[in-house]
Amino acid sequence: MDICELSPSYIRAIAPYQPGKPISELAREMGLDEKNIVKLASNENPLGLSPKARAAIERELAELARYPDGNAFDLKGALAARYGVPPEGIVVGNGSNDILELAAGAFLTPGSAAVYSRHAFAVYPLATQGRGARGIVVPARNYGHDLDAMLAAITPETRMLFVANPNNPTGTFIAGNELERFISRVPENVLVVLDEAYTEYLPEEKRYNAVAWLKGRRNLLIVRTFSKAFGLAGLRVGFGMMAPGVADLLNRVRQPFNVNSLALAAAVAALGDTEFVRKSHDLNLAGMEQLEKGLRELKLEWIPSSGNFLSFELPKKNGQSTAGSVYQALLKRGVIVRPVAGYEMPDHLRVTVGTREENEIFLKALRESLK
Ligand code: PMP
Repeated sequence: MDICELSPSYIRAIAPYQPGKPISELAREMGLDEKNIVKLASNENPLGLSPKARAAIERELAELARYPDGNAFDLKGALAARYGVPPEGIVVGNGSNDILELAAGAFLTPGSAAVYSRHAFAVYPLATQGRGARGIVVPARNYGHDLDAMLAAITPETRMLFVANPNNPTGTFIAGNELERFISRVPENVLVVLDEAYTEYLPEEKRYNAVAWLKGRRNLLIVRTFSKAFGLAGLRVGFGMMAPGVADLLNRVRQPFNVNSLALAAAVAALGDTEFVRKSHDLNLAGMEQLEKGLRELKLEWIPSSGNFLSFELPKKNGQSTAGSVYQALLKRGVIVRPVAGYEMPDHLRVTVGTREENEIFLKALRESLK
């Protein structure tokens, strides 16, 4: 028998994650100069990385022959001071993706189940399927999480429930008080994984403090990342905040050195660079307005987004989706956005908010691609 057929059927059934197209790949395929390509496909920070993080990386280079601190003492200390959780309740990951996987590894088995919303971030089904657990997909309401339906979908086998706030790729947002009410109704034998990858982009009036909900609650895991507003996507560092007992379980399935030393040093510095995060936030809000204005002028509809991206809808032609052809036409013009057909959104494309210039280039290319 072929060795591949011996892999569990639930592994073989996984549809691999489709990342945004890298700049170098498009340059190769189209014979374009990398400098002329605008990538707005992976919700990265258009400002690059914080100068303080860069300096920290340079300082750390001399120590690369050594293993990183597997307990991430400095980073956990800095996170504990910032967010008010004890270091024992923090787990750091190779991107927040790692935290999602660690949580699934600690709680899911074949025969158990995880609840998540339709159009929610792709890693929830991936992490669930990877453990042979069953994904319970709850229909969305206006592309957002239908919290009542998610609660009703919990079965006796359910061990985890994923909520992204804001969600990717829809950008939909749940108000803090609504979310807190929901979490308090989830049975305590179901772990709520609250993914706040984009929380730093929230405007003042939408902010809420989920960390306060950890008090006296063991079934909540808050997931954050350094990939977005902190500008460190390439280094891969994220973290989870949870009850120390839950952290202890995640640490048992974690690789001993899952976050590399450059990432650890850069994350501490990035966390301290509040000015950079504020700039990223402000640039994003201005860019979001710019994109919305441009889409309005093109008479396109979009899903209002609280993240650093938005998904807009392409009109059908003869009953057929045009998102694929517009995506290709944008690529020809050196602009990479993200198709979201894999999220059951075949008529949408997702664009990340870039710099003013990048947004302009995108809108111009979109205008031409729609002709
Ligand atoms: N959660 C959400 C909602 C995301 O959109 C992403 C990135 N696309 C992640 C988690 C994972 O990001 P990272 O692993 O870079 O922290």
